[in-house]
This record gives sequence, structure tokens and C-alpha cells, in this order.
Amino acid sequence: MSKPVIFSGIQPTGNLHLGNYLGAIKNWIDIQNSGKYDCYFCIVDYHSLTSDMGPKERHQQIITTAAELLALGIDPKKSTFFVQSDVPEHTELAWVFNTITPMSELQRMTQFKDKSDIQYKNINAGLFTYPILQAADILLYHGRYVPVGKDQVQHIELTRDIARWFNNRYQKYFSETKPMLTKTPKVMSLLEPSKKMSKSLGEAHVVELNDNPNTIEKKIKRAVTDGGDGAAPGVENLMLLLNYFADFETGQQFLKAKKDGSIRYGDLKKIVSESIALYFGDFRESREDLLVAPDNIRALLDVGAQKAKKVAEETMKNVRQLVGVR
Ligand code: ADP
Repeated sequence: MSKPVIFSGIQPTGNLHLGNYLGAIKNWIDIQNSGKYDCYFCIVDYHSLTSDMGPKERHQQIITTAAELLALGIDPKKSTFFVQSDVPEHTELAWVFNTITPMSELQRMTQFKDKSDIQYKNINAGLFTYPILQAADILLYHGRYVPVGKDQVQHIELTRDIARWFNNRYQKYFSETKPMLTKTPKVMSLLEPSKKMSKSLGEAHVVELNDNPNTIEKKIKRAVTDGGDGAAPGVENLMLLLNYFADFETGQQFLKAKKDGSIRYGDLKKIVSESIALYFGDFRESREDLLVAPDNIRALLDVGAQKAKKVAEETMKNVRQLVGVR
């Protein structure tokens, strides 16, 4: 019997940060290593055209993102690991989905609103139809489960709806897609802990996995702990990081101190910084080693694209017939 398909993607828009890791990438690796699924992990470079990034930087960042994913444990022998633009069927299927998706449904997407606020000088149509391309990414491989952070759940629900609209209009072909969340589906910004940790807010809001111990310490030191109104989402965020990266006993000690009011935020920040720096030590080294040979990374991605293409071509062949263009 064939294994359920997992699909997930990431934009090559910058170094990976703790939000990406705890919300999605750690899950990708665990899922891959469980051996229970047929995994597709994709660097979604066409999605990144909706942002302000320039071509040179994008070209470089595709390789850097690939190196980071490999350094974290994505194994091209176990997973189909590839770049979206190497498989043109992604944009082809997206066009078909464009024609069955009501505008009103896209208008409900909160990410579009959030991103438009941030890049208000570049509110392009691609930013608006982005979730349609995302649905095509997933359904091209008949993805059943999509490991993502909480911010992406609305898009995965739209993917499910698009599959239904297609099946109703043409013929039952695509199956239901569901998001897969981690226990830490939303990591918050260090400086504005009411918002999700995201590179687009600025460097100081995120801890990158490649940050050196010094940088991590500086960033965590500046992290906001006081919500002003008695609420302390920043502290909750630091506790989440502590629980994940420090040992169990240390986590328990700080939890107790937090409850009885004796917690010292300086100590908490120190332990959090040290634990993160230690946890990603091996990662930083492997990343550097991999980036010495970018051609090798390209070669791995090319093999992945060939594997992906076989499935993508078959799906598009069926879709063309179902919609009656062939
Ligand atoms: P960004 O939001 O930094 O632009 P992407 O949109 O490329 O990053 O997200 C890649 C993956 O990381 C997605 O599955 C997304 O849900 C997840 N992710 C991004 N930021 C966070 C966060 N702060 N907390 C949890 N998951 C996140």
C-alpha cells in the first residue's frame, strides 16, 4: 500500500529562524525519519517573487535555504527535495485553480492583509493569489498532510476547499488535505511578542538558526518581557524556548520560579541564549561545510526535481483531460 503524501514548502527569502524551525522544519525532519510517509519538501522560489527581493539575492538564497535544510537533516535519499520553478506544472495547475477560486474567498485570507501592511508599496496580484499557487504545490503531489506553522492553517483549509471545488466542477480527483501542527505552532517576535516571529518585522525580532552565540545573546537580552498591562506574552515566549531547548530540570526550575514570583528574567534570558547556541552548534558547522560546494547542492536539487516531475506530469496530464483542454 502506498504511504500518505506529505508536502510542505518554504520560501527562499532569508535564513531560517526559530519560528520556521519550531513551527515546521523540525516536524519535517521527524516525519521524514518516521518512515511512515512519502515526503515532498520544496523551496518555493516562485512564491518569493511576490516579495521585494532582487534576483541576485534570490539566486543565492535558494542555495542557502537548501544548505540550511540539509544541515538540519532533510535527507534527499528519504525525501523528494526540490525547487518549485524546476517543475513548471506548479504554475500550470495554479492557473486552473485560479479559474475555480472565488475572489471573495481570497479576500478572507489574513496573511494577505498582514503582508500588504508590511509591503504596502508592492501589493501585487501575486501576493493576492499566492494561496492558489500554494494549493497547486500541494495538490500536484496529492498531499494529504501539510506540516506548517499556525499562520498557514487558513491557506491549507483553502487548499482543501479548492480540491472540493475542482471535484464538484469536473470530477472527483483530488483528496482532502489537512495541516499538521507541532506543539509550538506559533513562536512570537522577540521585540513585539503579540506578533509572530517573522523576518519581515526586522532582524532583531528573530533568532536565526545560523546566528552565532554572541548575536543570540544580544538579541535575547533585548527581548521584551513586560506587556505593560500585566500580560507578559514575551515571558511566555521565552519560557516556550526554554522548554524546548534547555533540559527538563532547568525548565521545571524556571516554571516553579515563575509561579512563586521569584523568577529573574536576566537568568532566564541567559539560559535561553546558551541553550539555543548549543543546540544549533552542529547545524552552524554543517551549513558552512555544505556551502563550500554549492554545485553539489544544485545537483541534489536537480535529482529531486526529476523525481517530483514524474508525479507532477502525471497529475497535469489527468487535469488537462478532466477540464477538457485535451
Ligand atoms: P516567514 O513567515 O518568515 O516569511 P515562511 O512564510 O516561508 O516564513 O514560513 C515557512 C514555514 O515556517 C511555514 O510553515 C510557516 O507556518 C512557519 N512559520 C513561519 N513563522 C513562524 C512562527 N513565528 N511560528 C511558527 N511557525 C512559523
